[in-house]
Amino acid sequence: MQVNAYAAPKAGAPLAPTTIERREVGANDVLIDIEYAGICHSDIHTVNGDWGPQPFPVVPGHEIVGTVTEVGEAVTHHKVGDRVGVGCMVNACRECASCLRGDEQYCLNGMIGTYAATDRDGTTTQGGYSTRVVVDANFVLSIPEGLDPAAAAPLLCAGITTYTPLKHWDAGPGTKVAVVGLGGLGHMGVKIAHALGAEVTVLSQSLKKQEDGLRLGADHYYATSDPDTFEALAGSFDLIINTVSAGIDVNAYLGLLAVDGTLVNVGAPPEPLPVNAMSLIGARRSFAGSMIGGIAITQEMLDFCAEHGITSEVEVIAADQINEAYERVLASDVRYRFVIDTSTI
Ligand code: NAP
Ligand code: ZN
Ligand code: ZN
Repeated sequence: MQVNAYAAPKAGAPLAPTTIERREVGANDVLIDIEYAGICHSDIHTVNGDWGPQPFPVVPGHEIVGTVTEVGEAVTHHKVGDRVGVGCMVNACRECASCLRGDEQYCLNGMIGTYAATDRDGTTTQGGYSTRVVVDANFVLSIPEGLDPAAAAPLLCAGITTYTPLKHWDAGPGTKVAVVGLGGLGHMGVKIAHALGAEVTVLSQSLKKQEDGLRLGADHYYATSDPDTFEALAGSFDLIINTVSAGIDVNAYLGLLAVDGTLVNVGAPPEPLPVNAMSLIGARRSFAGSMIGGIAITQEMLDFCAEHGITSEVEVIAADQINEAYERVLASDVRYRFVIDTSTI
């Protein structure tokens, strides 16, 4: 079936309206009428070629919320009319050690990304900046009632990407967590870490968003442009989640970790992040990475957010504002996630 979409025709080019082909609904598939699609900085890295060559044209979008309009005959846990979500993956092998552990994002045979990936049938996947999508039901999440659909869309990437490391490294009462960068991921990290009971500090480039950060759940807020910050906070955090989309001086941030503390990089800048051994060995610190989360923990995160009344702070835009939104994200001028109303595509 032909559906409307917005695609980047080549690396670095503005996105423009187009039509794409979606497969027919198979026995295990769900057809979703998309309502909202969030704009993740990964969409921008991808279309700008930051992460290498891509199979253009690329329709980005992996924070998808919509309504089920058709289900295949073998589908049991989603039905027509359900509000559902799709995140960064649309398939994985389901047989390897990672998949069996529920870490489909680390599928040893390669998870299939929601866009710019080769699907099982050999076609290239196309993402959520479109009106309809067909997805294997096992990779479709249930959006709990009570979550605003536009504000829930960013949970499918920004939410899960911060929830998973916060859970994995035991953020909770008695732990001190810092979130570096108050953008799409960062503001979700603040809300979730606060809801988990941790003491939360925002490390932002400036104090411009301090009031917001404290309102979102941070206990403390510091500007990283102020060198005194690194002196004042030396050795103080159990966990730092770095969400910055560009290179940072990792060694300076490692110095903010307590003994046994961990700095988890979720930001995915194209350039290397050099680490001095001395930054780690002096206090048994760890430098780690984390990518989104598996399907089961993504559903757990959505249910957690519903229980705690957590959604993203969003600016809903029409499709013809996507290119302008990209510029604003690149200028750190996002509060705190752009979400496309896909009825405008
Ligand atoms: P975003 O909304 O643009 O937020 C990034 C924030 O980082 C900005 O708002 C800004 O916060 C800070 N920042 C930007 N440039 C900076 C610089 N040069 N120096 C210091 N701070 C800077 O982006 P996002 O959508 O949250 O994504 C963030 C990164 O995570 C991207 O690289 C993206 O690809 C990656 N990502 C990874 C995963 C994963 O699974 N690991 C999933 C999704 C996204 P302040 O203004 O507060 O300083
Ligand atoms: Zn993303
Ligand atoms: Zn697998």
